[in-house]
Amino acid sequence: MPRYSLVVPAYNEEKALPLFYEAVVPVMESLNEEFEIIFVNDGSRDATKEILAELAAKDKRVKVCKFSRNFGQQAALLCGFEEAKGEAVIAMDADLQDPPEVALQMIEKWKEGYDVVHGRRRRRKGETAFKKATASFFYRFMRKITSLDMPADVGDFEHDRLLRAQVTWVGFKQTIIEFDRPERVAGETHYTLKKMVRLAESGVFPNSDYPLTLPLKLGIAGGFLSVLCFIVFIVLACCKVGFGGLVAWLFPTITLAASVALACHGLSNIYLSMIYREVQNRPKYIVAEKINL
Ligand code: UDP
Ligand code: MG
Repeated sequence: MPRYSLVVPAYNEEKALPLFYEAVVPVMESLNEEFEIIFVNDGSRDATKEILAELAAKDKRVKVCKFSRNFGQQAALLCGFEEAKGEAVIAMDADLQDPPEVALQMIEKWKEGYDVVHGRRRRRKGETAFKKATASFFYRFMRKITSLDMPADVGDFEHDRLLRAQVTWVGFKQTIIEFDRPERVAGETHYTLKKMVRLAESGVFPNSDYPLTLPLKLGIAGGFLSVLCFIVFIVLACCKVGFGGLVAWLFPTITLAASVALACHGLSNIYLSMIYREVQNRPKYIVAEKINL
């Protein structure tokens, strides 16, 4: 049985894969412990399939899963995690943007007793200012909206919100190590703006019911302000101060009606939120250890 499982999603990485293999294997061998590398070919349309088959033929530690089509990095990681036989699993990108040496540092932390080690990117090379800014905003926004104490700028070693959020959600003893993120060894990023937006969505919505609770809050605030407006108008009317006559009363009447409708809508959202949590079917609790049971 291997002690360590590296899980590497690969989507059209024909150029990066041989370089990845050459770089990672000596680093892992330096540990003098058994390891396996599980490549998940996420429906690549280049020579990724042939290159992985070659690597697997000459090295039995290399294992390959091939998807029938492109399911995304998230799914590829999950598949690798399910296949992994090692005691510790390390997720890595195929483009060497996660330096193999960082894996050694992670293993060290794991041996110190941490269950989860996050890699935090101190600097990112070869990435556009737009990507850095959106990523930075996303992580901070996630922390605010989801009540998950997800460290900013970490990954499953880059990209993949849901897993990253999930890893934080399950708990366990976690720590962070920092590293500088280098450029890709070859090829180009597969994360288009569309994929990034989808990633952000699947990070936020499954982990937060904030958007659903907003209408109720707005409705209550609006109702409160409308009533306040009525009170002011009544006082003004009592003091016989002119303020626009009968038409003016329309304003708080309309906002009050709208606020009531909004609040009612928000109320049903609470049920919707509960149903959503129910269908997500997450474990109610996670046991870390049992003694004498
Ligand atoms: N990847 C994947 N499926 C996809 C997109 C990406 O398996 O649909 C893999 C890709 O091969 C790489 C990792 O996920 O190993 C990170 O992708 P990429 O380097 O393109 O993202 P970036 O580093 O630019 O955020
Ligand atoms: Mg990359």
